[in-house]
Amino acid sequence: MRILLIAIDGLGDRPVKRGKTPLQLAKTSNLDKLAKSGINGISYPVGIGLVPGSDTGHLSLLGYDPEQFYVGRGVLEALGSGVKLYEGDLAFRCNLATVDSKFNVTDRRAGRPDERTVAELAKAIANVSTKEFTFLFSHTKGHRGVLIVRSKFANPMVSDIDSHNTGPTAWAKPLDQSDDARKTADALNDWLKKVHQILKSHPINKDRAKKKLPEANFILTRGASMLVEGQPHKGAVYSGPYGKNVRIQKFSERYGMGAACVAGGALYKGVARYLGMEIIDVKGATANVDTDLNAKVSASISALKNNDFVFLHIKGTDVAGHDGDWQKKMKFIERIDKAIAPLLKLKDTIIVVTADHSTSCALKAHSADPVPIVIWAPEGMVRVDGVNKFDEISAPHGGLGRIKHKNVMPILLGILGKAPMYGT
Ligand code: ZN
Ligand code: ZN
Repeated sequence: MRILLIAIDGLGDRPVKRGKTPLQLAKTSNLDKLAKSGINGISYPVGIGLVPGSDTGHLSLLGYDPEQFYVGRGVLEALGSGVKLYEGDLAFRCNLATVDSKFNVTDRRAGRPDERTVAELAKAIANVSTKEFTFLFSHTKGHRGVLIVRSKFANPMVSDIDSHNTGPTAWAKPLDQSDDARKTADALNDWLKKVHQILKSHPINKDRAKKKLPEANFILTRGASMLVEGQPHKGAVYSGPYGKNVRIQKFSERYGMGAACVAGGALYKGVARYLGMEIIDVKGATANVDTDLNAKVSASISALKNNDFVFLHIKGTDVAGHDGDWQKKMKFIERIDKAIAPLLKLKDTIIVVTADHSTSCALKAHSADPVPIVIWAPEGMVRVDGVNKFDEISAPHGGLGRIKHKNVMPILLGILGKAPMYGT
């Protein structure tokens, strides 16, 4: 028996038209088939009244309670984008952004410059050192990048430069009393000022200024976190403001199941690599609504031949939610529904469909609303309930009721007959 876990990013939503959510409005005959012959429920990704990030939402779903296993986004982003991490490396997730002459952030994404522009600018700041600290910057996708900081003083206890808002730059501050945290925060601020000078005078930005485009003249960092010890694919020890010296037990060791991940976005590959999963790169996987869903589904079917557990991530729903475009979200859900048709013919496979969080089209942001979940299994393995539609309103009436994402892996182990016994 194998498990395919499909995480449809930001799938959950609130009513957008005629009192219905985008998932309710979408025509989803295949998802509904799974609901009809599966067990359904509604799940809180990280906890009641908490708005999940994609990072914490996925860690929970894969059975790693973020309270225990989350250290920060930097290492996840680095691992997912293929940047090599060595012991002692401090990593940040970065945005190329726009600041005015007084370091007020005026655009958190620098007007979303194209890939070539960002790649060119990234080259100019790829290796800019300050006293006792080496800073390595690499472009990942779009306006995004990863910063690696190397120094015997490097310390992950530093605050985010990115406040998620426009306005005055939130310069890095130490988050504890240690000398290293203070040194790291100071070095990061020095680097940012140096980088601003380099970017400001770059011909690309001179040209953007002429064309009245936002200049990509600053870097916003967030999610400081460090690989403390070991190698990611073997399980390793990490540190960050959210957790100190967290040892990650590999997914395969934790659950006795070989696991692989099919995803387009760096963060999701990063979460999978953090847990020691194999990453399957799929041509045409874009982490957006233009992704090649059929290619991802085929890659997942192939991966199930050699793995007991496959995690398939689909991102476009979250992108449409952030854009506040419920029609785009609804249409993309319908495309997902068509693309998953071949999965319904799989034998000896448990299929789980859920989301890492809700992304509300009205809020254009993640929300604390729980998400629907269905577990579909070969006959006799789950208690089929009366739910016959896969959506936020039907799901809570199902046999799983209300759960948390951290319960999902234990529930799956139970279905497989591998749950531990308590008592005699
Ligand atoms: Zn997400
Ligand atoms: Zn999102």
